[in-house]
Amino acid sequence: MNQIFNFSPGPAILPHTVLKQAQKELLNWNNLNMSVMEISHRSKYFIRLIEDLKEDLITLMNIPNNYEILFCQGGARSQFSAVPMNLLKYNDKAAYVNMGFWSNKAIQEAKKYCNPYVLNVKKKKNNIDYIQLMNKWHIHNDIKYIHYCPNETIEGIATYEEPSFNDIIVVADLSSYILTKYINIKQYGVIYASAQKNIGPAGLTIVIIRKDLLEQEKRIELPSALNYQIIAQHNSMFNTPPTFALYLSYLVLQWLKQQGGISTISHINQQKSQLLYDTIDNSNIYINNIAKKNRSMTNIVFTLPNIKTEKLFLKYANNHGLFFLKGHNAIGGIRASIYNAMPLKGVKKLVNCMNDFEKKYL
Ligand SMILES: *Cc1c(COP(=O)(O)O)cnc(C)c1O
Repeated sequence: MNQIFNFSPGPAILPHTVLKQAQKELLNWNNLNMSVMEISHRSKYFIRLIEDLKEDLITLMNIPNNYEILFCQGGARSQFSAVPMNLLKYNDKAAYVNMGFWSNKAIQEAKKYCNPYVLNVKKKKNNIDYIQLMNKWHIHNDIKYIHYCPNETIEGIATYEEPSFNDIIVVADLSSYILTKYINIKQYGVIYASAQKNIGPAGLTIVIIRKDLLEQEKRIELPSALNYQIIAQHNSMFNTPPTFALYLSYLVLQWLKQQGGISTISHINQQKSQLLYDTIDNSNIYINNIAKKNRSMTNIVFTLPNIKTEKLFLKYANNHGLFFLKGHNAIGGIRASIYNAMPLKGVKKLVNCMNDFEKKYL
């Protein structure tokens, strides 16, 4: 069978060796003659897995010990409500940065709990989209936190600046960013990410929170299952955690450590995205209108001259074993999502396919 490559934005590609290992262990995990899915999350075997998973995240991301790692459910979307419900009391204010689809969804949800200041930081100059530098962001001094999404998965636009707003808490949706590039955790109060882009399968959401933020008084209507303090007190097992998703994520982190961790993988991610953007910029038919410093490293979007050629391109790519390149319905076009598990080989194949298509059709 010809090798295929999966450019899905999420749920996304998982490392092949991880799937092989899961297959091998499926009927007999840890010499138990049972699957990991069939045992209690309170058994010593599973608690060990959770502890190891935490340890690996701490090592890989260099998480300081005044932070707590929470394994949650309900996706990033649940965090859109969990964040304001946990951090804001009734009259508290928050700022929400709007730079695309997902930050806007977070704003819509936050409006149920507060009256957010909305910072529109995505600008256009000479038909090029860019994100304003953070020192130009207008920060009101009465806010409890500022929320942003540094990598907008759908538009393929990103900011790689390190956030620093004095003692204002920074909250970030890192769903398509986490583990692709080093971040300085100390700059954040809360980060969250759903797993299905770059950590494991859907069902798991990771929250990393500064411990002092767990302590504060909570709104009475905050559901227990979304209460960070309760989740932390129960070692992320207040309700039954998504055990298979946690197990597979653990395998992915083992794989990531074998690759050399975040510094090595981010270097490869850089190479992969550079190759694609160079191909786009050197072509006569592929267009990406995002300022170079704000181009996403993981979600590379481009358009062709018209919808007809885009459809032809998708068909051509499919015939060559390149799948799920269609852009999100909200914006159309083409999108190649190239998270950690996408090998350089896959991007090279896509680039060859783009070059061949250009010669063939224009
Ligand atoms: C995919 C994605 C989401 C939505 O995640 P769910 O797990 O479906 O809730 C939110 N934010 C970003 C940045 C994403 O990429």
